[in-house]
Amino acid sequence: MKIREHDIIILGSGLAGLRAALQIAIEGKGKIDLAIVSKVQLMRSHSVSAEGGTAGAIRQDEGDSLELHAWDLIKGSDFLADQDAVWKYVNRMPYEILLLDRLGMPWSRRPDGKIATRYFGGQTFPRTAYAGDKTGFFAMQTLYDSLQKYTDRFTRYDEFFTTHIIVGEDKTFRAIVGIFLPEGETYVLRAKALIIATGSAIRMYGFTTMAFSGTGDGVAMAYRIGIPIKDMEFMQFHPTGIVPSGILLTEGARGEGGYLINNKGERFMKRYAEKFMELAPRDITSRAIMSEIEEGRGFKGPNNLDYVLLDIRHLGKEKILTRLPLVRELSMRLIGVDPIKEPIPIRPVAHYMMGGIDTDLEGRTIYEGIWAIGECACVSVHGANRLGSNATAECLAWGYFAGNDASKFVMEKELKELPTEKVENAQKEIEEILNKNGNENQYEIRKELWETMDKYVGVYRDKIGLEKALDKIRELKRRWKDIKILDKDLIYNTELMNAIELKNMLDLAEVVVEGALLREESRGAHYRRDFPKRDDENWLKHTIATYDQKEDKPKLDYKPVKILYWKPVERKY
Ligand SMILES: Cc1cc2nc3c(=O)[nH]c(=O)nc-3n(C[C@H](O)[C@H](O)[C@H](O)COP(=O)(O)OP(=O)(O)OC[C@H]3O[C@@H](n4cnc5c(N)ncnc54)[C@H](O)[C@@H]3O)c2cc1C
Repeated sequence: MKIREHDIIILGSGLAGLRAALQIAIEGKGKIDLAIVSKVQLMRSHSVSAEGGTAGAIRQDEGDSLELHAWDLIKGSDFLADQDAVWKYVNRMPYEILLLDRLGMPWSRRPDGKIATRYFGGQTFPRTAYAGDKTGFFAMQTLYDSLQKYTDRFTRYDEFFTTHIIVGEDKTFRAIVGIFLPEGETYVLRAKALIIATGSAIRMYGFTTMAFSGTGDGVAMAYRIGIPIKDMEFMQFHPTGIVPSGILLTEGARGEGGYLINNKGERFMKRYAEKFMELAPRDITSRAIMSEIEEGRGFKGPNNLDYVLLDIRHLGKEKILTRLPLVRELSMRLIGVDPIKEPIPIRPVAHYMMGGIDTDLEGRTIYEGIWAIGECACVSVHGANRLGSNATAECLAWGYFAGNDASKFVMEKELKELPTEKVENAQKEIEEILNKNGNENQYEIRKELWETMDKYVGVYRDKIGLEKALDKIRELKRRWKDIKILDKDLIYNTELMNAIELKNMLDLAEVVVEGALLREESRGAHYRRDFPKRDDENWLKHTIATYDQKEDKPKLDYKPVKILYWKPVERKY
C-alpha cells in the first residue's frame, strides 16, 4: 500500500471538479498542494458529453433578470428547491459564463458578436449560453487548458478507482483509499480536505443517457460513512432519448424550435402545456410523451421502446448544421436518419439525479473537511425537477464556492492523523471482494437492476411497482454477496471495479425506491399514479436518508424546504 499526502483532494474531474481545481490553483497562490483524482482519464469524465448549454442571466440588458432565473428554477423544481441556494446560484452564474468566455470558451455568437443564448424548457427568457451542441466538451477543454498554467500546483491521479473515504472518530476527513488501476496498487491519499465531485448515479437505470461511469460511487461512499443523502427519489427523465440506444438528443433541438409529433401528425404538447408547448419542463414533457404512447398515439419501436418523433426539418439545413451538428451526427450515425430530411424517433430516458449528498450553501457536508459539488451533491437548486442547462451551471458555481471555501479551510489546518485501522479494514474489504468465489454473475445482477429500475421506477410510479422494485433490489443486494470475481489481478481489474460500482448502485437504488415509496404525492419528476396530486401540507419537505449500518439499509427522515421569497402555487405552463 502506498501513501501520498496533499492539502486538498478533488475526487472527480468533470466540470465541477475541474472548476474547483482552477479556483484552488488560483486562490492557493502556489501554497496549496492539490490532487485531482478520476477513475477514468481526466478528460473522459462524463461532463464532456454535456450538449445543449449552460444557464445564466447574462442578457439582463435585454429583459432577463436574476429574479426571473430564480423564479423559473423554483417553479420548475415544483417548489422543492431551497430558495437561498437558488438565489446564491443565479447571482453567480453570469460571472461564470463570462469567466469561461475570458478563458477562451468558444461560446456560439450572435451576429452582433455577443454570446448567443437560446430557450430551454421552463424558461421565461432565452438564457442558455451554448457552444453549438457540444457545450460540455468545450467547457471541459477550456478549464483543462486554463489549469495547464498551474501544473506545479496539482498532481493528477487518472484511472484511480476510489473505494473508501476515511474519516476520524471526530467526524473529520482524513484520507481516501483506492486502486491505481495502471499499477494495480492500493493507495492511500491523505489530505486536510476532500471535495467530492463524482457525478451521477443514474446508471442504475438501463435505458439512460449517462456514461457507464455514472455509478454514484461518491454518493455511496459518503452514505456509508454516515453522511446524509437527500431527495434521491427525484430522478429526471429527459424527453428526447434516441430510440433504441437512449443516447441524448439535446433539449437545444426544441430550444431552437423543434416539434414533438405523435402518430396522428399532431404537436401533442398543446394538450399538456398550451403556452410552453415543446419547451415545458422535462417532467411534464416526459409524462406527455409517455401518455401519448400509452394511449396509442405513439409508434411501435424495437424492444418495447415505443416512441414519438422529434421533428426539426423546418429549422432548415443551415441552422441544423451550425446550432445542432451533434443532433444530426448522432441521428445519422446511430440510426441512419438525417434530421434535415426525416424526423427522429425519441422517448423519455433516465438522465439526471436531482438528489445527492446533502450540503450547505458552500457545498460543505456534515463532516468537517468534506465538500460535495456537481451532480453528486444536493444543495438543492433543482428540487424535484431540474430545468435543462442548469446542471453544468451548478457545477461551475459550486466549483467556485467550494473551491474558495476549501482553500481558506486548508490554509488554517494541519494534516490530521491517519486512522490506520480503518485504512486496513478498507484494504481488507477490497481483498474480500477480489477473492469472491460465489455462484452469482455480477453482470446478470446489474441487468436485473436495470430492468427493475426501468420498469418500476420510471416516469410513472405506483405503490405495487415500487414494492416489487424494493423486494428485487434487496434480493439483488443479497445475491451480490455471492458473486464470483474471475480476474484476481489488480492491474486494470475492471471486473473488480464493476463489482464495487454495482454495490454502490444497489445501495443507492434502495434509497431511491424507499424514498419514492414513502413519498405519497406527485411532485416534479416523482409521479405517483396512486397519488397524482402535489401535497404541500404533508410533503413540502426534503427526504434525508442516512445509512443504518446494523440493518444495512437506509433510515429516512425529512427536513423543511427553505421557502424565503416565493410561496408555492399551482404549476402551469
Ligand atoms: C448526455 C448528457 C448531456 C447533458 N447535457 C447537459 C447540458 O447541455 N447542460 C447541462 O446543464 N447539463 C447537461 N447534462 C448534465 C451534466 O452534464 C452533468 O450533470 C454534469 O456534467 C456532471 O458533472 P460532474 O462534474 O458533477 O460529474 P462528471 O462529469 O460525471 O464527473 C465525475 C467525475 O468523478 C470521477 N469519479 C466517479 N467515481 C469515482 C471513483 N470511484 N473514483 C475516482 N473517481 C471517480 C469520474 O472519473 C469523473 O472524473 C447532460 C447530461 C447528459 C447525460
